[in-house]
Amino acid sequence: MTDLTDQVAIVTGASRGIGKAIALLLALQGAKVVAVARSEGELEELTQKTRGLCIVADISDETDARYIVSETLSHYGRLDILVCNAGVGSFNELEHFEAAEWDRIFDTNVKGTFLLCKAAVPHFKAQKRGHIVGITSDVAKRTFPHGTAYGASKFAQDAVLASLRKEVRPHGVKVSTIYPGLVDTYFNDTTPGSPEAEKTHLRPSDVAQAVRYVLETPAHVVVDELMLHPLTQEW
Ligand code: NAP
Repeated sequence: MTDLTDQVAIVTGASRGIGKAIALLLALQGAKVVAVARSEGELEELTQKTRGLCIVADISDETDARYIVSETLSHYGRLDILVCNAGVGSFNELEHFEAAEWDRIFDTNVKGTFLLCKAAVPHFKAQKRGHIVGITSDVAKRTFPHGTAYGASKFAQDAVLASLRKEVRPHGVKVSTIYPGLVDTYFNDTTPGSPEAEKTHLRPSDVAQAVRYVLETPAHVVVDELMLHPLTQEW
């Protein structure tokens, strides 16, 4: 089993929702967490609990993505784990979907994952070790009406991670992809915590436990894909 104590982990989208739960759980396991998002106040509040580092950054910007990795390395002198979790989505009939909204979703979900991996992979390859965990969605494996942009972005993000898995495996670097179903978060401007969502959605901590599981596998094991749903969700 891989011990997470003192491992340095970047978690994107850590200001709320799934990313915040991942950051808190990894910190509880003894990891040094670098929490990334654009909302400074929420990140600072989180960092008081994780006692790690927070970096206010936009993952869709290449300069920011490079800075996240270089600042982590100069602060901690090491990087072991990258969790590409930050993501956005909105839903509408195709003919009413704005092209600018399409770009926002792809820039965050696909380009953001690509840019963070691009910045971290040379370091992981050089040390012949590292673990990238991507939070995609079960919609990376199914389609549904009004989901053209979000669904396409998650298929694309999944393809980035799956191709990268094959590229870096010979260098000792792991890539694991997690596919959650419905999760009770702030996603798409929703408010979590309703009694209805408690029955129909996963908690962010459920996804965090899945991340912990893939990260704690022994050095010779890689979990390529892990899908989880609330028991009530047919998909
Ligand atoms: P959320 O509560 O809205 O959280 C999204 C996080 O991403 C926030 O911390 C947000 O922080 C960050 N973020 C967004 N754009 C960013 C950018 N350009 N740069 C840096 N950080 C950015 O949503 P969530 O449900 O936790 O979503 C997390 C991931 O899970 C996403 O990839 C989503 O697609 C996936 N997912 C969600 C569900 C679900 O049902 N909720 C299901 C399957 C998969 P700032 O706004 O502060 O930057």
